[in-house]
Amino acid sequence: MFYISTRGSAPTLRFDEAMMTGLARDGGLYVPETVPDLSRGEIAALAGLRYEEIAFRVMRPYIGGTFTDAEFMGLIEAAYAGFGHTARAPLVQLGPNHFLLELFHGPTLAFKDFAMQLIGQLFQAALAKSGKRITIVGATSGDTGSAAIEAFRGLSNVDVFILFPHGRVSDVQRRQMTTPSEDNVHALALDGDFDDCQARVKDMFNDFAFRDAVGLAGVNSINWARVLAQVVYYFSSAVSLGAPHRAVSFTVPTGNFGDIFAGYIARRMGLPIEKLVVATNQNDILHRALSSGGYITDGVKPSISPSMDIQVSSNFERALFDAYGRDGAAVAALMDELKSGGFRISPNALKTLRETFASGRCSEEETLAAIARLHATTGEVLCPHSAVGVKVAEEHLGATPMITLATAHPAKFPDAVERATGIRPDLPARMADLFQRSERVTRVPNDLAALETLIRERTGH
Ligand SMILES: *Cc1c(COP(=O)(O)O)cnc(C)c1O
Repeated sequence: MFYISTRGSAPTLRFDEAMMTGLARDGGLYVPETVPDLSRGEIAALAGLRYEEIAFRVMRPYIGGTFTDAEFMGLIEAAYAGFGHTARAPLVQLGPNHFLLELFHGPTLAFKDFAMQLIGQLFQAALAKSGKRITIVGATSGDTGSAAIEAFRGLSNVDVFILFPHGRVSDVQRRQMTTPSEDNVHALALDGDFDDCQARVKDMFNDFAFRDAVGLAGVNSINWARVLAQVVYYFSSAVSLGAPHRAVSFTVPTGNFGDIFAGYIARRMGLPIEKLVVATNQNDILHRALSSGGYITDGVKPSISPSMDIQVSSNFERALFDAYGRDGAAVAALMDELKSGGFRISPNALKTLRETFASGRCSEEETLAAIARLHATTGEVLCPHSAVGVKVAEEHLGATPMITLATAHPAKFPDAVERATGIRPDLPARMADLFQRSERVTRVPNDLAALETLIRERTGH
């Protein structure tokens, strides 16, 4: 199995190389050269298996020779051992034909743990084989950073530096980043906003001397290994509702298009998914693009579902690559147009995208109303991101069972939940002492040279 870039002019890589590289040298994203099929019989055989076993069977064809079967299974077991629910991704019913897939039972209470816990294990194992040491630097608006720190804390061949915007993440999110005591964890509070954090990380990747000296590696949502890990719960949930004998649909609260793109891969592998519904908050570029064909940027408006406050949805490039018949030059041209504000999707490509994807948007008021309504009618307490999904899903219910992805635990966003329901959700017992643990954080200026100096000092380069 090899991986190619969506822009058509970067080297073809193996799985472990694509995982360590992140962004391709031509600016594109890595995708598998061919998407492996699971037969109907193979999909049917997943029903009733443990999550880890399903994960192994779904992901194995993508790994190539990087790990033996026994090694890979061991890494999967280790990745999900710390989850607070034996089903890992349990399904609960919301209504006659509507189900909620709870993806928030991992150590940092958001779906990002599914991918991050696994790539923590994969990185560690790949580095042990090569004897290399790497430095992970990431920017976060909250959930990615906490999931990355949790996944890499204490690993011997990795230092992890996470830049978050000072004063702009929730208390739970900050404490999840600042309370781990391991020496290889470095939480950096930057004087700036999330875009500044992301821009400085990009600058570091473009400073090749620095990049090579510290062995820089990225774990943001464009990393192929993260997408792959998320394909698994589409299979586990669909087979528990009767796939492949019965089709299902999914609604996915989306920001960077990573989670929903994993659903698209599951569909390409043969899972009978009728529709994948993109659910956006008021930052609705994806809904506008799928409705009108115009992918036009429009500034980020901060919302109560902050993990989806995104203006350029990176992983959408992967869907465009397929919709344009895997024409890397065409994708590169679109991404050039995007630099000056946006582009129009060709009629053919738009038609192809609409065969798989539907979309909807949810305003701030509608988000709060959905949290209140679901609490009153079902007793479920939703986080604001999941509420966006539920509201949009309700507009797409039909004969096919609908599975909405619940992407975070309500206790991660207690203010919005309390506003909607009057109830302040409690943290799960296993992390109830989060507010008693001591914090360790370094305040940093929004300055590339200062950041590089700090990282060189801390890693001894
Ligand atoms: C990251 C995140 C999302 C958006 O996921 P994408 O893969 O960027 O579409 C939605 N909800 C929560 C809680 C998140 O942390």
